[in-house]
Amino acid sequence: MTKKLFDPLNAKMVSAALDSPSRFHVEVLDSCESTSTLLLDRAHKDGASGSVVACERQTAGRGRRGRSWLSAPGDSLTFSLMWRFPVGMPPPTGLSLAAGVAVARALEGMEAAGVRLKWPNDILADGVKLGGILVETVSSGGRHIAVIGIGLNVRLSREIADAIDNEAGALVSVMPYVPSRNLLLANLLKALAVMLDEFEHNGFAGFVEEWLARNAHTGQLVSIHAEGAAPVEGRCAGVDADGALLLDTGSGVRRIVSGEVSLRNK
Ligand code: ATP
Repeated sequence: MTKKLFDPLNAKMVSAALDSPSRFHVEVLDSCESTSTLLLDRAHKDGASGSVVACERQTAGRGRRGRSWLSAPGDSLTFSLMWRFPVGMPPPTGLSLAAGVAVARALEGMEAAGVRLKWPNDILADGVKLGGILVETVSSGGRHIAVIGIGLNVRLSREIADAIDNEAGALVSVMPYVPSRNLLLANLLKALAVMLDEFEHNGFAGFVEEWLARNAHTGQLVSIHAEGAAPVEGRCAGVDADGALLLDTGSGVRRIVSGEVSLRNK
C-alpha cells in the first residue's frame, strides 16, 4: 500500500491558483515512468499545447544523456509542460536556459535566496543542485514543439541524497517558507507562460542579461567534458544570444553548444 502524502498534488488546486488557467491543462499522476516521455509521446499525437503532467512517483525520471533524475513522493516536484511554438518560428535555441530564468524568477518571487543557474540546465543555490531542467523538442506540421521537464527538490531525504552522485540541495534550505507543492507548481507555470511569450518574440536573446546575472560560474575556471574527448578548460565568460557557453581558454574565446557536454568546477 502506498503511504498517504502530507501535501498531495492536486490538478484542481494548481489550476485554481493560475492567472490564466485556460492556457494550461494540468494533470496529476500518481505514478509514471517519466512525465517528459509521456508528453513527448503526446506531442507526436496532437496533444494540446499547455499540457502539463505532474507526477508523484517517476519510475524512470530522466536528465540529459540518459542520466537519471531521482525523486521521492511528496518531497519533490517533478512535472513537464508541452508547448507548441507558432508555425515558422525558428528552432527554440536556448530554451533550456530561458526556462532556467523562468524557474529562478518564480523561486525568487517566493523569496528563495541565492538562486543561481549552471549552464546549461541546472538550478543551484549555495553551490548545490536544487533542480534540473530537460528541454526536448520535436517538430510536426511546420512547428517546433518543446517538452520542458523540471525536477525540483522541495526536501531531500538522506536516502535520496545518498543515491545522487553529486551534491544536492532542497528548497527548504533556501526559502523562509515553502508553499504547498500545488502553489509552487502554479507559480512555476505562471513564470513559464510569461517566459514562453517573451521567447516567442525575442528568443533567448531577451534573457541573456538575466541569465548572466544568475550565472553560478561567472569568471570561474571550469572544464567542459564530452564523452570520448579530452576536457576543455577555461574561464566562464558568459553565454551568447543562442545560449552557447563562452569559454575563455586563454588563447581565444570558444563557443560551446550544449547537448552532449557537461560543465564542472576546476
Ligand atoms: P551536470 O550536473 O553534470 O551538468 P547534467 O546536466 O547532465 O549533469 P541532469 O540532466 O541535469 O544532469 O540531471 C541528471 C543528474 O543530476 C544525475 O546524473 C545526478 O547527478 C543528478 N541528480 C539526479 N537526481 C537529482 C536530484 N533529485 N537532485 C539533484 N541532483 C540530482
